[in-house]
Amino acid sequence: MSDSAFHYVDGVLHAEGVSAASLAEQFGTPLYVYSRDALTQAYRAYADACAGRNATVHVAVKANSNLAVLNVFARMGAGFDIVSSGELARVIAAGGRAENAVFSGVGKSAAEMREGLEAGVKCFNVESIPELHALNEVAKSLGKKAPVSLRVNPDVDAKTHPYISTGLKSNKFGVAFSDARATYAQAQAMDHLDVVGIDCHIGSQITEISPYLDALDKLLELVKQIEADGMSIRHIDVGGGLGITYDDETPPAIGDFVTTLLDHIEERGHGAREVYFEPGRSLVGNAGVLLTRVEYLKPGEEKNFAIVDAAMNDLARPAMYEAYHRIVPVVKRDAAAQIYDVVGPVCESGDWLGRDRELALVPGDLLAICSAGAYGFVMSSNYNTRPRAAEIMVDGERARLVREREDVKQLFAGESILPD
Ligand SMILES: *Cc1c(COP(=O)(O)O)cnc(C)c1O
Repeated sequence: MSDSAFHYVDGVLHAEGVSAASLAEQFGTPLYVYSRDALTQAYRAYADACAGRNATVHVAVKANSNLAVLNVFARMGAGFDIVSSGELARVIAAGGRAENAVFSGVGKSAAEMREGLEAGVKCFNVESIPELHALNEVAKSLGKKAPVSLRVNPDVDAKTHPYISTGLKSNKFGVAFSDARATYAQAQAMDHLDVVGIDCHIGSQITEISPYLDALDKLLELVKQIEADGMSIRHIDVGGGLGITYDDETPPAIGDFVTTLLDHIEERGHGAREVYFEPGRSLVGNAGVLLTRVEYLKPGEEKNFAIVDAAMNDLARPAMYEAYHRIVPVVKRDAAAQIYDVVGPVCESGDWLGRDRELALVPGDLLAICSAGAYGFVMSSNYNTRPRAAEIMVDGERARLVREREDVKQLFAGESILPD
């Protein structure tokens, strides 16, 4: 959690200048709360390190696609990394520009390619030969040339959770390193494709720079071969994946990360190429918290449970990746703490938010689940017919509702029963 954006004032957690307790009163729980200042600071760290360096930032929309969040970045001139035409529509609705969007994703449909081409996206990151053919056909039908880069799988170990590691041979992502040169040659031979760059994305929540440098060295080696084959690689997209501190991780600072990569590229003689960064988590993760209220305390022989009103449908990361999120009281209480598993009301044993947490609690207390800005709301579902949470953006002393809480009727509005 960004310490400057989220801090205690007289024992009460605040988001910037606004008390989290008052937000929960006003808007109810579970409630996602984002800090504009934390978003801005994280983006600036990237943008400042890129300034004057022929490098651009493409915000990975999938980490947090709320329009207000995207708009904060769009106002600062961000580009975007999208993985669906739905995300493209969000970018445009949030004031972003298609010309600054790169279209990633392993399974783009022909319809999505068409939408991307018609909107004029900056580049398609293509992941297979069949996808090259499909894109070529779509571009032909529109009388256009599609700008492409190939997502190459550099086969490096990003040393992160297996579900969020994407750069190994065994992953479904990218073109295998050993096939990349030949795949580029195929792309070059297609009339409606324009080879413009090279791309990789080796995983997420990466807390060391060395896997990036290993991946870059392999990419740069490939660039030489591709150019020898007569193509010109104008940009190198290094993907996203920089980690954040959830607990005691010590990822590199954003500015150091950017500078180290750019220096590395320059030192190897590739400084003339534009470098794209595609950060998601490191921009939004610590800019958000999820507020939840304790419904019941349930002491047990082996474990005490704190049953809260947020659940795995609101924040899937613990259930999905056994991810750790710090959980802190909204109002600090001078009482003896006990060890609790913090769990939701959903009918699954996997529905937990934190295990073995030392907390002083009474029913009705508010808790903040920290570092919930990335892969939080965006992964939420309606499992157990639970309406999804509201989202708030705090800006200084002001708090604005940026997504209404769903209501139950909306959840089955598109359903119908058989007529007889
Ligand atoms: C998910 C994703 C990102 C962002 O990853 P983070 O770990 O959130 O920084 C960037 N690029 C691509 C292609 C992705 O799939």
